[in-house]
Amino acid sequence: EAFNANVAAASNLNAFIVATPEQALAAADKVDADRAAGKALGKMAGVPIGMKDLFATNGVQTTAASHILEGFKPVYESTVSQKLWDAGAGMLGKLNLDQFAMGSSNETSYFGNVISPWRRNDGGNAALAPGGSSGGSSAAVAARLCPAATGTDTGGSIRQPAAFTGISGIKPTYGRCSRWGVVAFASSLDQAGPMARDVRDCAIMLEAMAGFDPKDSTSLDLPVPAWESGLSPDLKGKKVGIPREYRMDGMDDDVAKSWDDGIAWLKDAGAEIVDISLPHTKYALPTYYIIAPAEASSNLARYDGVRYGLRDLPEGAGLQDMYAATRADGFGPEVKRRILIGTYVLSAGFYDAYYTQAQKVRALISHDFQKAFTQCDVILAPTAPTAAFALGEKSGDPLEMYLNDVFSVPASLAGLPAMSVPAGLNREGLPLGLQIIGNAFDEQGVLNAGLAIE
Ligand code: GLN
Repeated sequence: EAFNANVAAASNLNAFIVATPEQALAAADKVDADRAAGKALGKMAGVPIGMKDLFATNGVQTTAASHILEGFKPVYESTVSQKLWDAGAGMLGKLNLDQFAMGSSNETSYFGNVISPWRRNDGGNAALAPGGSSGGSSAAVAARLCPAATGTDTGGSIRQPAAFTGISGIKPTYGRCSRWGVVAFASSLDQAGPMARDVRDCAIMLEAMAGFDPKDSTSLDLPVPAWESGLSPDLKGKKVGIPREYRMDGMDDDVAKSWDDGIAWLKDAGAEIVDISLPHTKYALPTYYIIAPAEASSNLARYDGVRYGLRDLPEGAGLQDMYAATRADGFGPEVKRRILIGTYVLSAGFYDAYYTQAQKVRALISHDFQKAFTQCDVILAPTAPTAAFALGEKSGDPLEMYLNDVFSVPASLAGLPAMSVPAGLNREGLPLGLQIIGNAFDEQGVLNAGLAIE
């Protein structure tokens, strides 16, 4: 009943695309049965979680919030979701997102935008964006519809929605969580991770999600550390780097203040604060918006009306017409924009000027971080340049929307673990997030600094 009530309450937020309370209930029942039988319980035993609708779930519609996949029911389970079920979790439903995870506000979903449960303290009732692309996940956890949800992060889609809704979320090192069965956006960047109320819950859930998978050629063949038992908010002997290039002109006052608060909290926890430089930061956004669309245009070529979901077959149409009609009808405007940009930067005449160049700059951005991590253990920065904006405020201007990702894409391009934790409210009463970026494989360092902040 509680599950049904939660799902019903969720309809105001439009967080769920499909509800599966029976699956959450089955997981809860299994806990009772296992306990009665004296069996050991998994890390996530009985926990009802939301699943971003980018993870293939066996027999349950998987859409990536796109019309082109509407009605698609996979006959297989993604590795990450399977690991969560193996750890005892149960699925409450499939959560809304930006279409193919392209967006920062959840407004590109075919199934309508998600509404953040937060409101400004100005007495008005303006509906705010829950962030994106994991906006269904952030809204559902923030509204306490479920204690945790999966997210995916290509350029910030776990961290920015977590920041907008006052929850925690971590994108682990690229390769920690298998991409097998996760609808691909930009394969060299895509990474799954947990979104939950606090750092400890993120650590527990990440342990369940991570691990080597021979079905993903970029999966890390490393044991999963015991992140939860390794949690410690004591940062004595640790150095925290403050990247000077992130202090951009015109930075929102409240964001700058929360960054200063974070610095003070980490000092209190025993850390030494050091000034660092990430000189190629200003190239991260243009680099990301070349590489991500390039990979997307290639990944999305598979949606042709033959293999999945939607097929538009006009009277007397041939195969080419069917492809064209299906894709014209099935993809939303932002997805089409990315496919066009991606196809352009990969085209014979422009490949070297854009794609190859972007790959070179990506290497420089990585080197910046490598150098920084000889001077510090983790890096502290804001997650996003502002708190949540109103629905509709930025959706008319793609460039303005892309600017939201300015602090989150560098860690993505470098494949580094990065987390957003809640760091208080701004003057409008809206949550702000602080981001901790760690060296490759150092999720523990990231989680521990997060614990010291929360
Ligand atoms: N907002 C970024 C984009 O639109 C990141 C999305 C993501 O991380 N999936 O590409």
